[in-house]
Amino acid sequence: MRTGCVGQRRAAERVVVAGGGFAGATCARYLKKWAPALDVTRIETVAFCVACPMSNRMLAGGFGLRSLARTHEALASDYGVRLVRGTVARIDHDKRQVLLVGGGAVGYKRLVVASGIDFATQSSAGLAPALDSGRVLHAWRSGGLQITRMRDRLAEMRPGGTVVVHVPRAPFRCPPGP
Ligand SMILES: Cc1cc2nc3c(=O)[nH]c(=O)nc-3n(C[C@H](O)[C@H](O)[C@H](O)COP(=O)(O)OP(=O)(O)OC[C@H]3O[C@@H](n4cnc5c(N)ncnc54)[C@H](O)[C@@H]3O)c2cc1C
Repeated sequence: MRTGCVGQRRAAERVVVAGGGFAGATCARYLKKWAPALDVTRIETVAFCVACPMSNRMLAGGFGLRSLARTHEALASDYGVRLVRGTVARIDHDKRQVLLVGGGAVGYKRLVVASGIDFATQSSAGLAPALDSGRVLHAWRSGGLQITRMRDRLAEMRPGGTVVVHVPRAPFRCPPGP
């Protein structure tokens, strides 16, 4: 005999996905697809997801950032994933809450952290000032100004100029790339 919740609908369990890049967006989408009753909530800082794949084509010209950009709202409306625009400041495991920069908290039953990776500037002397100077460019994030600047710098070069390409030690964002 069944006991307990008979005749009652349990509140949907909430899965929070922190980060809405490839990993977070794919995870949220499939959770909702395979378990539609779940409340899947994604927390994302930026308004647009700008894909890195194909961004290299920008360097050759005739291909703009717009063709690489998608809004996060599209996933939310297509699959019923809730979207919270904000930046995760801290995770309170005891209270099962994600705390946001500027205040506010989102409670969870399960949490997926998919915030990607970033430069370890402290491990390479001179990297931070070099990046800040604007002379050392990278295509790490297609959404930033970096790739646009890189395209412009390449276009300004005279024939015979030298470009130094450095492949860092893994992990980095596209290990098969080099
Ligand atoms: C030039 C280039 C070309 C590439 N080409 C390919 C390719 O052809 N094929 C391929 O498979 N891969 C390619 N990659 C690799 C691919 O882009 C990465 O593997 C992928 O983007 C990693 O996804 P991710 O979701 O783990 O991280 P990210 O894409 O970095 O996403 C993390 C997300 O979390 C958000 N976030 C971070 N911190 C917080 C916070 N505190 N609060 C809220 N949100 C936060 C960020 O805003 C971001 O949207 C390429 C990469 C580069 C740089």
